[in-house]
Amino acid sequence: MIKVALNGYGTIGKRVANAIMLQPDMKLIGIAKTSPNYEAFIAQKMGINIFVPQESIKSFDEAGIKVAGNIEDMIKEADIVVDATPNGVGAQYKELYQKFGKNAIFQGGEKANVADVSFSSLCNYNEAIGKKYIRVVSCNTTALLRTICTLNKLSKVEKVRATIVRRAADPKEVKKGPINALVPDPASVPSHHAKDVNSVLKDLDIITMAVIAPTTYMHMHLLNVTLKSQVSKEDVINQFLNTNRFLLVRGKSKVNSTAEIIEVARDLGRIRNDIPEVVIFEDSIYTMGNEVFLMYAVHQESIVVPENIDAIRASLNLASAEDSIKITNTSLNISK
Ligand code: NAD
Repeated sequence: MIKVALNGYGTIGKRVANAIMLQPDMKLIGIAKTSPNYEAFIAQKMGINIFVPQESIKSFDEAGIKVAGNIEDMIKEADIVVDATPNGVGAQYKELYQKFGKNAIFQGGEKANVADVSFSSLCNYNEAIGKKYIRVVSCNTTALLRTICTLNKLSKVEKVRATIVRRAADPKEVKKGPINALVPDPASVPSHHAKDVNSVLKDLDIITMAVIAPTTYMHMHLLNVTLKSQVSKEDVINQFLNTNRFLLVRGKSKVNSTAEIIEVARDLGRIRNDIPEVVIFEDSIYTMGNEVFLMYAVHQESIVVPENIDAIRASLNLASAEDSIKITNTSLNISK
């Protein structure tokens, strides 16, 4: 059993922690929390060990939350740390991981140079095998890379042009906006997502544009991909149907929006309404010669969870890409 520590128990961290607990080859030794808030109370109720900064032990004690030790104790005990702290904080923690000689998985809010490799399970698992520091790319980039690498198996992807409609905030974030505007983000082109895709697929010709929209549910991507050869709509549909981590939804099933996708997740009884698959609107798939057009939705809170689990296995060379993806999907009940 690999001992995994989780630093930064927020939107991504709590989901990765849950996923670790479901893996047959991993044990969650604990999480790091900085404040004794509701998330700490719930983690305690779930029986998770909580590690805190040395100076915060007293405030956790006063709040009635049992502390297992300080954050350094947690790192020392772990074989590997998943860092899901806010943007830029992970880079500060890297020194500590290095000090104790521990492997670490970082998130997409960190700069690419925090790690030895930026990671996407379906694109470059093999490149990440044995790497001490791996960065799982952001939610949008994870979806772009999954999609591009899947189409690339059908026919070589030569060019990608993508428009990203980004959710303004996660559901729990009360201080973010906009609540009544569409905001180019940034106003200049390309958006940073293209560069992030290039952190994995170095030579890909890709341009992205992004707009922030007042919603909390999901992102939406509008993609135009040029392939080396001509493909049919059926080829594209079959390619996604036969690949892990995609779901296709049809208009005639009345799933025509991100709201209805989240309702599907609720009805399926998915934990936290999570839907880590890239959800493709099947009716949007259109082909013209070598070009493929499609639209899909991305659940930003959960899409990177399976990739974090695979990154742990890649870093410690625990399994092949195929085996890791299979174990992760089965344990998390992810559709094929
Ligand atoms: P978050 O704010 O929800 O969670 C971060 C957690 O880290 C919070 O619980 C916070 O209290 C804790 N924290 C803050 N400082 C800390 C410290 N010094 N030590 C330990 N814990 C500390 O953030 P998030 O949305 O989960 O984002 C985490 C990372 O994941 C970022 O790199 C982000 O870019 C990336 N990411 C976020 C999303 C998303 O949609 N939320 C999607 C993909 C990737």
